[in-house]
Amino acid sequence: MGSIVLFGPPGAGKGTQAHRIMEQTGLPQVSTGDMLRAAVKEGTPIGLDAKSYMDRGALVPDEVILGLIRERIQQPDAAEGVMFDGFPRTIPQAEALSELTEITHVLAIEVPDERIVDRICGRSSCGACGAVYHDTFNPVPTTGCACGQFVEKRRVDDNAETVQNRLAAYHEQTTPLAKWYESRGLFHRVDGDRDIDEISSDLLKLLE
Ligand code: ADP
Ligand code: ADP
Repeated sequence: MGSIVLFGPPGAGKGTQAHRIMEQTGLPQVSTGDMLRAAVKEGTPIGLDAKSYMDRGALVPDEVILGLIRERIQQPDAAEGVMFDGFPRTIPQAEALSELTEITHVLAIEVPDERIVDRICGRSSCGACGAVYHDTFNPVPTTGCACGQFVEKRRVDDNAETVQNRLAAYHEQTTPLAKWYESRGLFHRVDGDRDIDEISSDLLKLLE
C-alpha cells in the first residue's frame, strides 16, 4: 500500500476527514501544519524559523518542510504508507515527495473561497485526541468529546485577516499541483461543500 494525499484549501475539512479515514484504514495522518505547530510550541530552531511565516499566513520554505517529512516517513508506523494532510503544497514539494514514497491517491476536497472564512473562524479542536470541531457546523457534543477529556484548542492564525493570505498562497502556489497530479492520473475531486458524513463516504469509496 502506498500513501494518500489530502488536498484542498485551508479549512476545506482535510483534518476532519483525515481523522475519519485514519479510523477506517489505520493509515497515520501526517500533517505538516501540526508538526510545525509542535515545533513552534517546543521552541526548536525549525519552530522559531517557521513561526513568522505561519503567523502571516505565508508558506514555510520547502527545505524546512521537506526536512520534517524525510524524518517523519522513516518512523516505523509509516512503513505501510501514510495520509498526508496539508502536504505537498508546492510543485517542488511534490517532486521531492515522488522520490521518497509512492502516492496512490490525491483526494481533493473542493470548497468555494466564500465558505472558508466562516469555517476557519469557528474552528476549535480537542488538544487531547485531535478531533476537529466547529462552533456552528460541528459543535462539541453536550456529553463532551468522544475521547472523554476535551481540552479546547484554537489556532492563533485562524482569524479573518490571515485567512485571506492563506487563501492567496493556496491559489498561487498550491493549485498548480492539481494539474501536476492530474497528468499522472492520481487526482480525484469530491465536493466538500456538503455534510461531513457524505464527504467521508465518497472519500472512502475512492480508496476502496
Ligand atoms: P483543514 O484541515 O482542511 O484546514 P478542518 O478539518 O480543520 O480543515 O476544518 C475546518 C473547519 O471546518 C473546522 O472547524 C471543521 O469542524 C469545519 N468543517 C469541516 N468539514 C466541514 C463540512 N463538510 N461542513 C461544515 N464545516 C466543516
Ligand atoms: P490550513 O490547512 O488550515 O491552512 P495547516 O495547519 O495545514 O493549515 O498549515 C498552517 C500553516 O503552516 C500554513 O499557513 C503554512 O504557514 C504552514 N504550512 C503547513 N504545511 C505546509 C507546507 N506543506 N508547505 C509550506 N508551509 C506549510
